Amino acid sequence: MTTADDEQLVLQSVDAFCERHLTPAEVQRRDEAHTPANDLLVPMAEMGLIRAPFPEAVGGIDLPWSSMCKVQERLSYSAYFAGSILNRVLSFGIMPLMAHGTEAQKDALLPGLFDGQRVIALALTEPDVGSDARAVKTRAVRKGDGWVLNGRKTWISDAGGASHLLTLCRTPEEGERSLTAFLVPTDAPGIAMTTLPKVGNNCMPSYDIGLDDVPVADEWRLADVGKGFAAVTSALIYSRASQAATNVGLAQSAADLATQYARERHQFGRAIGEFQVIKHRLVDMHTEVMKARLMVRELARRIDMGEEPLEIAAMAKITATEALQFVVNHGMQIMASAGYSMDSAMQRHWRDARLFTFGEGSNEIQREIIAKVLRIP
Ligand SMILES: Cc1cc2nc3c(=O)[nH]c(=O)nc-3n(C[C@H](O)[C@H](O)[C@H](O)COP(=O)(O)OP(=O)(O)OC[C@H]3O[C@@H](n4cnc5c(N)ncnc54)[C@H](O)[C@@H]3O)c2cc1C
Repeated sequence: MTTADDEQLVLQSVDAFCERHLTPAEVQRRDEAHTPANDLLVPMAEMGLIRAPFPEAVGGIDLPWSSMCKVQERLSYSAYFAGSILNRVLSFGIMPLMAHGTEAQKDALLPGLFDGQRVIALALTEPDVGSDARAVKTRAVRKGDGWVLNGRKTWISDAGGASHLLTLCRTPEEGERSLTAFLVPTDAPGIAMTTLPKVGNNCMPSYDIGLDDVPVADEWRLADVGKGFAAVTSALIYSRASQAATNVGLAQSAADLATQYARERHQFGRAIGEFQVIKHRLVDMHTEVMKARLMVRELARRIDMGEEPLEIAAMAKITATEALQFVVNHGMQIMASAGYSMDSAMQRHWRDARLFTFGEGSNEIQREIIAKVLRIP
């Protein structure tokens, strides 16, 4: 079977999955009930989606990243949270483990991740530490054969349903700049989680997490002492590609919604889409989505060639997240009161979209990355 055949089959399964699990009514129900997306992982695993990009040895089909980005886009077209939870499992669970995990860690965690039974949350951000991620203050100090962790992490997505927290800690005994990563079991004593109320992304709950004398066995250290930052960010290129692809899916959904509305809504005796100002606005919205999609495709193509183009990843993240905000902003204007109603998907897209230009590395920091790679100035 060719790669194109594989892609076709996977995308057909994704469409069937969306029709079954992500109908508009079900997506609205989940958003209103703030239902996390974890239960969707088992059916995703059953259709082979979680293993797909990995080698045959672990049950995968080596599906190229360009195909996975289409999967992410399609899932998010129906429901952003579905693309997001898959991204979390791949980029913050499986990939860091495959790159840096010990055989014992892989044996303990990979089967559950591949089967959709397990989630690992990324615990990087702290109350005083956002963009400057290397400044984390959470400390890990050696005690006996293991470690004791103290500190606070905040805005940690999906932590409540996670079995482990991929946690970046300062290890000051090894030098003031030393950062080490741990896979902290969420049932360890000394961990306290509270949910954070927020504007959108209701199906991706966020947590504030206190770590108070949390004992962690050395077996749960990911990568060498002092190599934590690299371990935590090792899958960054994939998570940026996935984030950009999911934003494209959401933006396409919002653009289509506004287009359909402009065909159906009549004022002054004609469809509002016939007013040139609205027609051209819709054209601009679809154009922005396509520009972002092409950027994601180029990033995925380069990843499939074995490259790690950090500047293209940053460009794709910026382009997709800003295209999405352009589309939902104008989508809301075109739909006006109908879009502002809680019954409309547009208000959800508009609320959810606001996060992505600063979440997972703000767009200002992405521009800094691009400037550094391109040596500007
Ligand atoms: C809903 C939600 C989910 C999240 N999920 C997770 C998660 O799962 N795991 C996790 O670890 N974190 C998570 N985060 C945290 C997220 O990654 C941070 O919000 C993000 O990195 C920005 O950090 P900050 O909010 O502290 O802003 P700050 O870093 O305080 O930045 C404030 C402003 O200053 C700008 N700025 C900062 N430094 C520079 C600079 N050098 N040059 C120019 N401008 C600059 C920023 O771009 C931003 O506009 C989540 C946040 C939210 C809201």
